[in-house]
Amino acid sequence: MDNPSIPDDQNQPQDGELHRIRHSLAHVLAQAVLSLRPGSTLGFGPAIDDGFYYDFILSSPLSEEDFGELEKKMRHIIKQAQKFEYEELPAEAALARIDEMNEPYKREYAQELIEKKGLTSLSFYRNGSFLDMCEGPHVESTRKIPTDCFKLRSIAGAYWRGDSKNAMMTRIYAWAFASKAELDAHVKAYHDALARDHKKLGRELEIFVIDEDIGKGLPLWLPNGTVLRDELEKLAKELEWHAGYVRVATPHLSRAELYYKTGHLPYYASHMYPVMELREQVDGETVVKESYYLRPMNCPHHHRIFATRKRSYRELPLRLAEYGQVYRFEDAGALSGLLRVRGMCMNDAHIYCTPEQARGEFLAVMELHRKCYEILGLADYYMRFSTWDPEDPKGKEKYIDDPEGWERSQAIVREAMEQSGVRFVEGKGEAAFYGPKIDVQFRTVTGREETASTNQLDFGVGKRLGLNYIGPDNKEHTPYIIHRAPLGTHERFIAFLIEHYAGAFPTWLAPVQVRVVPVAEAFAEYGAKLVATLRDKYVRAELDTSSETLNKKVRNALTEKIPNVLVLGERESTEGTVTLRRYGEQRQETMAFEAFETRLHAAITTRSRTLPD
Ligand SMILES: [Zn+2]
Ligand SMILES: [Zn+2]
Repeated sequence: MDNPSIPDDQNQPQDGELHRIRHSLAHVLAQAVLSLRPGSTLGFGPAIDDGFYYDFILSSPLSEEDFGELEKKMRHIIKQAQKFEYEELPAEAALARIDEMNEPYKREYAQELIEKKGLTSLSFYRNGSFLDMCEGPHVESTRKIPTDCFKLRSIAGAYWRGDSKNAMMTRIYAWAFASKAELDAHVKAYHDALARDHKKLGRELEIFVIDEDIGKGLPLWLPNGTVLRDELEKLAKELEWHAGYVRVATPHLSRAELYYKTGHLPYYASHMYPVMELREQVDGETVVKESYYLRPMNCPHHHRIFATRKRSYRELPLRLAEYGQVYRFEDAGALSGLLRVRGMCMNDAHIYCTPEQARGEFLAVMELHRKCYEILGLADYYMRFSTWDPEDPKGKEKYIDDPEGWERSQAIVREAMEQSGVRFVEGKGEAAFYGPKIDVQFRTVTGREETASTNQLDFGVGKRLGLNYIGPDNKEHTPYIIHRAPLGTHERFIAFLIEHYAGAFPTWLAPVQVRVVPVAEAFAEYGAKLVATLRDKYVRAELDTSSETLNKKVRNALTEKIPNVLVLGERESTEGTVTLRRYGEQRQETMAFEAFETRLHAAITTRSRTLPD
């Protein structure tokens, strides 16, 4: 049954041949499951981006070990060249038919289609012994389905209609493509991506953990992960220093009144952790003296810093930067590793400027983005320019009501974007409440598109909060505020970087930059001396003192994806040299230790992805 509210293979034409094959295969899978597990009942079975799935309440469990048997059964059905026969029944007869089929979930959905959507008839498709209530489309006959173009992928739990109050069903996912070659290529890419998964690598490389005692979506950063955070912060601080930012530090929470003033409360309450109330006994009664919230964003704190005293136009632009921790209450079901969390630390800054400065400032922010991404070797991104939609019937609730302000601020952003030369697309009606925004969109190795950072030109909040500066005319003016975060949050950005580098970080970013491996105990002293020299210069170097064989030691360094491994033996220790093995490179190279140090230092200070000669 096709349900318009569930994900479908949007990129495929809905009447295209591949869509027909995928959806028909879902019927074949259900048919095979029913023959292996008679008495099971059915949920939905749509085509999706890379294949299809079907949801079941199984009469007895199936596991991935049964996939071989299921696939064999499916091929058997396909070879029978079963025709898909269409039948349309008036509402009453359709319900009676579903009762005969003994499908309670189909029945519930059919009833909804008839009663809420007003459908007067429902369609059914029969192939062989299998009957399904369905809108199609299907192939004419199972003969049109290549027997080697699909593969069962995984089993997962899924609530009926995606609602946790409903029954938990068993969802069987499968890949399906037009040919075996396409299927094979896709399966290979999938396994490659899996090997880069940030949750898997995050655990193996000891970058972060999510601990149930701490709480869902609140990652603990392990020493290796903290190095990544520190190095990114160092990069941000340097770039922001050169771009004229000043740094501030603000608390993780604030009084509820602040969020009523900014307008986050009550509208944003469902995305915030519940209130903390300080109570007091007054005349034998308990009263709430003060209420606090964990902050969901840093902006209001920075705005209060702007408002600490009168500002003159001569102070502008004022660029306040902070790697600020925020908390957002995401649904438990939406949490995923570092990608979807409840606590996150943001590469935040707010730029307060005059309207005349806004374009130049926005352009400088784009330039900062370009520099960051160039250093990190990220090229597969584009920007999304979200504007307001004056025609939106809900516009008055969605956007601040100031058409002139919108036109002016959008023109500023558009000009800055065009001048910057970055690739961007426009999205009408996707602006933030207070102004147009730019989202930086990346494609992850798994092909997912993710927003790495958001920048906003805010012309409304200054007025709302009464922020102002004295202009050359001696009058009060409202500043424009640019919200920007080129490196997004540590959580999201590091998840992305782990997958981007497959855990093999460039030297400047790597938790361990140099591993020194003596080939025998006799050379450990020479190794210790080199490590001490490197550490003295703040290089993250360590000595492998284990009693493993040389091969095992080198293999361990490879597993840990350490960029530089120095192997030391008799010759090295008498000549004062090192033999360098770089991660991912076949050849090894022997050089004077000082020469290695010079090259390493160059790689770190220039944040190079290679070791310069
Ligand atoms: Zn169907
Ligand atoms: Zn902000």
